[in-house]
Amino acid sequence: VSKGFKAARNKLKGRTEITPEVVDDALRDIRVSLLEADVSFDVVKRFVARVREKAIGEVVETKVKTEKGQLRVTPQDHFVKICHDELEALMGPVDTSLRQGERGRPTGIMMVGLQGSGKTTTAGKIANRLLKDGKQVMLVAADVYRPAAVDQLKVLGERLGVPVFHEPGVSPPDMCRHAFEAAQRDHRNAVIYDTAGRLAIDDELMTELENIKANVAPENILLVADAMIGQDAVKTATEFDRRLAIDGFILTKLDGDARGGAALSIKEVTGKPIKFLGMGEALDRLEEFRPEGLASRILGFGDIVGLVKDFEQHVDEETAEAEAQKILSGDFTLEDFVNQIRMVRKMGPLGELMEKFPMFGELPENFQFDDSALTRIVAMVDSMTQAERLRPDSITDQRVKRIAKGAGRTEKDVRDLLKQYNAMRGVMKQVGSAPGLLARLPGVK
Ligand code: GDP
Ligand code: MG
Repeated sequence: VSKGFKAARNKLKGRTEITPEVVDDALRDIRVSLLEADVSFDVVKRFVARVREKAIGEVVETKVKTEKGQLRVTPQDHFVKICHDELEALMGPVDTSLRQGERGRPTGIMMVGLQGSGKTTTAGKIANRLLKDGKQVMLVAADVYRPAAVDQLKVLGERLGVPVFHEPGVSPPDMCRHAFEAAQRDHRNAVIYDTAGRLAIDDELMTELENIKANVAPENILLVADAMIGQDAVKTATEFDRRLAIDGFILTKLDGDARGGAALSIKEVTGKPIKFLGMGEALDRLEEFRPEGLASRILGFGDIVGLVKDFEQHVDEETAEAEAQKILSGDFTLEDFVNQIRMVRKMGPLGELMEKFPMFGELPENFQFDDSALTRIVAMVDSMTQAERLRPDSITDQRVKRIAKGAGRTEKDVRDLLKQYNAMRGVMKQVGSAPGLLARLPGVK
């Protein structure tokens, strides 16, 4: 799905400085990717313009100071970070709160949106959240056009143990007013109005919703939008906001394939905050909106910030730098060799990390650390003396015999290890500033 961003990143790979041409080239891929993610055309245009402005001249190799020392950021990382930050900024500021009703007034929450967007389900989910906060909730079945809609809400109410208000034959605006009065009388903390939707924007429905709003003055009017509706989201959201002045919106069905670009479009055209994300049909599948996660999802790869944090946790950058310097100058002992393997093994999902941190160089497609190879190597290095580890050249045939015996390996194994180590040390010297270190480690294939 995320070819565009991968392609864009690859165009920046290995560069230390970025020209406007390269940025434009990468941005072309990003434009395609965002359109694929259902971000509207206008928003994509503005986004690309902003990233371009920031990226040109700024996307260079930098070192970022972290608590653990210095972290090198490549132009590629830098560019992705700018895209990520810009996306986050577009989705912010974050406001996932619901406005509370004033003293003695139950908090009104009115669900609006097209048919099938997830209003009824989300009404249940919000009721569930409020219950967990110890609130007394009432649900109102104000979708009177489809009999099944009332039953659907009643089932949810029963499961939650929440009363569902409904008056057959009464118009939705009147019914909602009665419901509000009943809730106030019963000292409920919140009333959730589940309204009707249509397949498309429709003046009659809008008028009905306006009348409900006028009758109950809900503190929160929440537009529920299906993440799958893609580009149509903008038109729908604009119209709902124009007629009802929504307070925020909820994007549903993000457990599916949709990358959620619609959120960006809706936020951009209405200026209203994203409150929640629907992540499944079950009542507990409602998440408070957090921009980081959605930005990564729209970009089409794992959370970059999270990855950087993982990396910092496992590697003390300063040590790693010093080690790299030592290795590249050819001053590389067998101990360094083992430490390098150990360090990389600790870092977890390698594919991801390698992709993220090109300092490790290109790795073969099916790259894997062979545990038994490592165990063998460690056993042999362990049975050497400190002097031997630091100066493997000094190891005589006699010592090879002893090391092999100590490690339970053959003399040939030990000689192979030394051969590999020597070969690698030679390669390291040559590699110099183009570190492809790990790809060339023996025992690593
Ligand atoms: P309404 O017409 O707006 O009230 O929509 P409903 O609440 O009846 O939801 C329509 C369909 O979408 C139902 O089958 C729901 O189970 C489903 N649905 C709602 N929210 C989500 C969600 O976050 N994820 C998934 N996978 N399905 C959802
Ligand atoms: Mg419904």
